Amino acid sequence: MNNQDLLNIAQEHGSPVYVYNGETIVSQYERLVSAFAKAKNLRIHYAVKALSNLSILKLFKQLGAGLDTVSLQEVELGLAAGVDPKKIIFTPNGVSLEEIEKVATKGVQINIDNLSILEQFGSKHPEIPVCVRINPHVMAGGNANISVGHIDSKFGISIHQIPHILRIVENTGMRVNGVHMHTGSDILDIGVFLYATEILFETAAKFKDLEFIDFGSGFKVAYKEGDVATDIEDLGDQLSDRFNKFCKDYGRDITMAFEPGKFLVSEAGYFLAQVNVVKQTTSTVFAGVDSGFNHLIRPMLYGSYHGIENISNSEGRKRFYSVVGYICETDTFANNRQIAEITEGDILAFSNAGAYCFSMASNYNSRYRPAEVLWYQGEAHLIRERETMKDILRGQKEVELEIAMPA
Ligand SMILES: *Cc1c(COP(=O)(O)O)cnc(C)c1O
Repeated sequence: MNNQDLLNIAQEHGSPVYVYNGETIVSQYERLVSAFAKAKNLRIHYAVKALSNLSILKLFKQLGAGLDTVSLQEVELGLAAGVDPKKIIFTPNGVSLEEIEKVATKGVQINIDNLSILEQFGSKHPEIPVCVRINPHVMAGGNANISVGHIDSKFGISIHQIPHILRIVENTGMRVNGVHMHTGSDILDIGVFLYATEILFETAAKFKDLEFIDFGSGFKVAYKEGDVATDIEDLGDQLSDRFNKFCKDYGRDITMAFEPGKFLVSEAGYFLAQVNVVKQTTSTVFAGVDSGFNHLIRPMLYGSYHGIENISNSEGRKRFYSVVGYICETDTFANNRQIAEITEGDILAFSNAGAYCFSMASNYNSRYRPAEVLWYQGEAHLIRERETMKDILRGQKEVELEIAMPA
């Protein structure tokens, strides 16, 4: 998929538009599987929240992946894509017992992350095996917003509460068939991650009915040159050996599971937006595009970096720009970014736009959410139409109040 292909897609489907390269998704999936080739039973649960289009879920199904889901609706999307419920894990945080029960009736693997729900669920449904989410209190990343394993995190059951889990299991007669952790969003240092897995192995050994251990995710990809990415091959090699040794000590082979989102889809995605205005001010040159944080919020929400290329003039002389949106808010995609000279009407391509981009899009300013296109072997498939005014109006009820005017 080259710049001309992207331009053709923008031409055909309009802008802004999300484009996903299916070949990149396939190769990232294969890369992950081969990194862990030494582990006997491997299961990859794709984290649906990263990018939840049905056609993307179907692609993962075809690859043999399962799904990691965090809401009843994500479970329903997975089932609609034809994924076997037994290959779906439900890993919510802070949801009601009722929602967990609804998901359980669909035959999906339940993962529970607090003692209160564990006790209630086990008392009512001792026959349904559950996984428990453990918080190993390891800070895997650098950014406290996206590190979820540390001491103040709302996620998981503390490793210091394992005796309490065991007591609930004994009292209710329920069965724990998996242990899980998800330490944070970015693994920069494999050593830190392996340290956390040791805590999980130690915990796992205390449960006798395990079918799997789920090591979560946090596999980081590079967003710009010089970024540290998770060395997945090194991690796969070391952790597979360690896992096999665990199975030997445990007395039987169980499954090793992961649930990556970003690693599988981030680099596959491009967000294409058209430049409406080039505005010179006394201090900078703004390039204003036909989008904003309603379509791509990561730069404003997390300060995330997305590469920006002017694909209409890729060979042009580089100049410094502030790339901003058209929303009536400060919505800066990038400051002081060197981009090939921009003319109004040019198409800018934002890279790493596969994960947490469309799935976080909104209708703010009553704008339509963009179309999505899946590219595979030279063909562009429209997988979501751009919204229309109908979508904006759907569900709204027009109530006209009889206003009592002041006398
Ligand atoms: C979000 C999430 C993931 C995926 O994280 P990535 O950083 O996108 O790989 C995996 N597991 C759980 C429980 C999550 O909440």
